[in-house]
Amino acid sequence: MIRFEGVGKRYPGGNEALRGLDLHIKPGELVFVTGASGAGKSTFLRLIPLLERPSRGSVLIDGVNLSALRRRRIPFLRRRIGMIFQDHRLLHDRTVFDNVALPLVITGRPHQDVARRVRAALDKVGLLRRERAYPVTLSGGEQQRVGIARAVVTRPPILLADEPTGNLDPALSREIMHLFEQFNQVGVTTVIASHDLPLIEALGHRRIHLHEGRAA
Ligand code: ADP
Ligand code: ADP
Repeated sequence: MIRFEGVGKRYPGGNEALRGLDLHIKPGELVFVTGASGAGKSTFLRLIPLLERPSRGSVLIDGVNLSALRRRRIPFLRRRIGMIFQDHRLLHDRTVFDNVALPLVITGRPHQDVARRVRAALDKVGLLRRERAYPVTLSGGEQQRVGIARAVVTRPPILLADEPTGNLDPALSREIMHLFEQFNQVGVTTVIASHDLPLIEALGHRRIHLHEGRAA
């Protein structure tokens, strides 16, 4: 499903974020990407929706080499990928409902369909009763749940999360990881960058450990 073949990434200015990365993530897998700060975890995730391009090698999604993807196909690639960030990146002048609805509104879904799907997504993350709230009135864990609902509302086959529990205490972190496990259990391929080793070890999924841009 996600394949990296000899992928190198060198940023303008000379930082070598990835150096010859080879790996394969199968459909339906849940994988943790670990490694110290600067090891290349974010860069690895950002190459998948083409937020960055590799300097060497190839990234393939469902057998399609992203280097050969035409520019006008990129929005379609991104619609198949839900992304979750440490700082959740919610819009603070919009309600929870409107934040989660955004990816559906952008693609022009009918209003009734939007409302049904937003509520289904909020239900999955346990926030149905907060749909009219503004993000600032929610706790950090709740804000991250809104970020997750927004990422899954289009039902993407791939979920990518970059340090999704970075700002949360251990109990909330565990809850958020269990949510990812639930989406994974219904077939969503899930890749989570995290340096929360005790939690990751307790969960026991596949781990890809990056060290200076290589899989160690
Ligand atoms: P991690 O997520 O594991 O902390 P990153 O992928 O963010 O690692 O960073 C890997 C390396 O690439 C680091 O040396 C970082 O400073 C560098 N880097 C990341 N993003 C950029 C950028 N936009 N421009 C230049 N260097 C970058
Ligand atoms: P629908 O009513 O659209 O068939 P469900 O009630 O089965 O949807 O699921 C509702 C919501 O769950 C979706 O709108 C979406 O927010 C979230 N979701 C995301 N990915 C999946 C998935 N693979 N399976 C089930 N639900 C998912």
